[in-house]
Amino acid sequence: MTWEFATAGRIVFGAGVRHQLSDLAADLGTRPLVVVGAHVARNATVRAAFEAARIIVHGEPTLAAVREGVATYRRDACDMVVAIGGGSALDTGKAIAALAPNSGDPLDYLEVIGRGRQLETTPAPCIAMPTTAGSGSEVTRNAVLGSPEHGVKASLRHARMLPRIALIDPELTLTLPIDVTVTTGLDALTQLIEPYVSRRASPLTDALCLDGIGRIARSLPVAASAEGASSLDARTDMSVASLFGGLALANAGLGVVHGFAAPIGAMFPAPHAAVCAALLPHGVAANLRALRARAPNDPAIARYAQVAAVLTNDASATAEDGADALLQLCRRLGVPRLATFGVRGEHLDEICRRAQQASSMKANPVVLSQDELKKLAMTAI
Ligand SMILES: [Zn+2]
Repeated sequence: MTWEFATAGRIVFGAGVRHQLSDLAADLGTRPLVVVGAHVARNATVRAAFEAARIIVHGEPTLAAVREGVATYRRDACDMVVAIGGGSALDTGKAIAALAPNSGDPLDYLEVIGRGRQLETTPAPCIAMPTTAGSGSEVTRNAVLGSPEHGVKASLRHARMLPRIALIDPELTLTLPIDVTVTTGLDALTQLIEPYVSRRASPLTDALCLDGIGRIARSLPVAASAEGASSLDARTDMSVASLFGGLALANAGLGVVHGFAAPIGAMFPAPHAAVCAALLPHGVAANLRALRARAPNDPAIARYAQVAAVLTNDASATAEDGADALLQLCRRLGVPRLATFGVRGEHLDEICRRAQQASSMKANPVVLSQDELKKLAMTAI
């Protein structure tokens, strides 16, 4: 058994910890570049940062936003980055922090579509403060960037891209709209299930995954309800689960659902979390079918049964019961299908061809054929 575990330099978690932001930032630098998401002005602390923001991220992060951020960082002689928002703003901030001290274009450093050049100079210090409970980006070492002109999305990845401080205040999520609570919460659930059955799982990520899955099973339906949306207990569970998902995926990898997320997110105007939410039950079902057919003794099947037991709170649940429970959960929470974002049957050959090459696919517990991928995606359309 060989594994390693790396994370942010420091994780500060709890209701009200957002008020520590200026003190924590003062330890790292004097001129922060503040990156915020377009929809984060819900809270006074965040609003203050919003006013100071030099970069505002609209929608999914792009190479253009990162180029603009790097130029601003250098022009204004900044010495650190503060990123506040959903996964898009955090990824943009992390990418700017990584590239500001390094020469060349962001594309040079991207996996899959770029040249995969390694960072030579240590990134600028970065504080990541999530305002959703989903991406876990505050503790991951990559940033997923899109290039709309190329129609692609790929990761900028380096161990040194782990933020210096992850500052997680569940109170910031109390006012999240229900649809965002649902899709980001299901993205977090995907980021706990995929690392749990990953080829790179470790005892440390296993513990985080099972704990996080239990929190989401119990608290996502509450946080996504009109009466429960303002429950700090439910929101705290979701923020812990999202953090654990980030810790798990950064150290154990992902799987087929995230393999699809990159091409679909690049080819259609679909938020990452919504794509993962739409695909999650079908990805689990497809993996199970392939494992039963080709590797009936694979330990991943027992792992899916453990996930099912936690999801259903029934120790006798089978792996397939877990896939059914996920399908019921998605229906109950009104998760939109992929067709909502324009995905049609005629796009599937291209989507599946690109999904095969996605970096997330490498950790999937079973190799899926083009035909199996197509059937999986068809059920989510
Ligand atoms: Zn995700």
